[in-house]
Amino acid sequence: MIEAINAQSLACGSCHMCCKLPSLEELNKPADQWCVNCEVGVGCKQYNARPQACQAFECLWLHSQKPHIDPKLRFPADMRPDKCHVMLNKKADGKLFAHVSAERPDAWTKGKIGNWLRRENQARPVTIICNGKQFAMA
Ligand code: SF4
Ligand code: SF4
Repeated sequence: MIEAINAQSLACGSCHMCCKLPSLEELNKPADQWCVNCEVGVGCKQYNARPQACQAFECLWLHSQKPHIDPKLRFPADMRPDKCHVMLNKKADGKLFAHVSAERPDAWTKGKIGNWLRRENQARPVTIICNGKQFAMA
């Protein structure tokens, strides 16, 4: 996924948080642990054999960097998941999940990402996932 993303856009840079924060059923990977295939700073060691879920994935931050997105809706660099410790995943049905690093469990309440999540939660429910727990934002 990392190499694919980098081929599309340099925006991901050294982030790799999608290879750490969410669980990955296909590889029996628990949440908040590096995927065994992730070489941090380099990319996916099994790029050609990576699971379908990886091939299809882009976090909301990366999506916002796409050229067709209104620049006013583009997330700033410091909201990239490795910077703000929160990775946003919008499902096809519109549900929004915020995967939060267990090392920074309050990251979703802070700064720009906290403000954005509070606003978003007024429009649709946001689910926070952190440290093995999952709960709806109040
Ligand atoms: S979490 Fe998002 S920004 Fe980070 S590597 Fe994955 S897709 Fe790119
Ligand atoms: S298989 Fe590759 S792309 Fe998928 S989570 Fe692991 S390192 Fe990332």
